Amino acid sequence: MSNSALPADSEEPPSSARLHSLKAFQPAGRGFWADVSAPDWNDWRWQLKHRITKLEQLERLMPTLTPEERAGAVLVDHKLAMAITPYFFNLIDPADEQCPIRRQVIPRLEETDTAPWEMSDPCGEDSHSPVPGLVHRYPDRVLFLVTDRCAAYCRYCTRSRLVSNASGYDFHPEFDRQIDYIARTKTVRDVLLSGGDPLLFNDEKLEYLLSRLRAIPHVEFVRIGTRIPIFLPQRITPELCSMLRQFHPLFVSIHSNHPRELTTEARDALGRLVDAGIPLGNQSVLLRQVNDDVEVMKAHVQKLLMCRVRPYYIYQCDLIAGSAHLRASVRKGLEITDSLRGHTTGYAVPTYVIDAPGGGGKVPVSPEYVLSRNNDRVVIRNYEGKIFEYPETTDGQPLFKAPVRFEEPDLR
Ligand SMILES: *Cc1c(COP(=O)(O)O)cnc(C)c1O
Repeated sequence: MSNSALPADSEEPPSSARLHSLKAFQPAGRGFWADVSAPDWNDWRWQLKHRITKLEQLERLMPTLTPEERAGAVLVDHKLAMAITPYFFNLIDPADEQCPIRRQVIPRLEETDTAPWEMSDPCGEDSHSPVPGLVHRYPDRVLFLVTDRCAAYCRYCTRSRLVSNASGYDFHPEFDRQIDYIARTKTVRDVLLSGGDPLLFNDEKLEYLLSRLRAIPHVEFVRIGTRIPIFLPQRITPELCSMLRQFHPLFVSIHSNHPRELTTEARDALGRLVDAGIPLGNQSVLLRQVNDDVEVMKAHVQKLLMCRVRPYYIYQCDLIAGSAHLRASVRKGLEITDSLRGHTTGYAVPTYVIDAPGGGGKVPVSPEYVLSRNNDRVVIRNYEGKIFEYPETTDGQPLFKAPVRFEEPDLR
């Protein structure tokens, strides 16, 4: 057999050593908690109970804490609480002040800086809430906030006004009122459970909520937005998965930002969800010195596919008060998007969006592929920058009228 159709070995693109190492699956392991028993370590309630929430714990575990971080940890009681699961804490590199994991969960003094264009409710959610805890922005779907608690708190949280209740928002969802609104609003065919993190509920409470939603005939589709597989993979138990699979079609959107978050533990937890028939998507936030790098993003989206997760969105970081130090430019977001499309698997390419400030919803922002367009033709460029023309067609009327011959199907 001839091999002439196959590329020669020498034509293989040189594999970047950095890309390769970013994509390697590593366990988070027991780390600082080497003396904890395996049953305790693998118990999600143990992980929650032993979260790092206080400055004293941080200082003990991380002597390399910087003055900016120490000052940040002092103010968390008034802004957004600090919480880091022991599992996730083990992913931090204490020797690296710019560790991409560290920047996401350890508070910093810069959180007190608020630019004039920053807001406490950057996506105008409260003004789109027909009942508390329900955001109805798009005609056919609603965002259903079920709790203000998460396993760990992201320092750039777009919902920090209510999440963790550190600033006294006092969020108390009233499931009856929320479900009643969905039941009497027949245009709602898609319900997105979020918060806070819905998977923090125990199985019984989640099952109750999902059953009530599933009892509404016009609710076709339910999804859960969660960072639990990344912060607390121990929560994804076989029991949880067999409970969830009763409610299909059920999708789950996870939130991972950096390839190092995709540990062997996270991959296994994600695998359990997929094996329960739940399609998984990922939503990343573009963050400065976390993932605002072409190679990091490429490794991340490819590694997500290896976990059977489809990259769904990359969000431009919302204009949440105190997040400027974590925000990357739209220019950088476009550069990253352009570096992915065509250069890697189409399934690996998420849509880059800006959630419009004030409440316009998600707006896709895309590099220019259409260079010009008129009634006669469209001029496009491909991922390599090569230019092509496509003749425009008047809808319903072919440019060239070919004789049409209708052939009777032969039914004998
Ligand atoms: C993101 C979001 C949704 C879901 O949007 P999709 O593009 O369908 O994923 C629904 N409602 C609100 C308020 C949202 O912010």
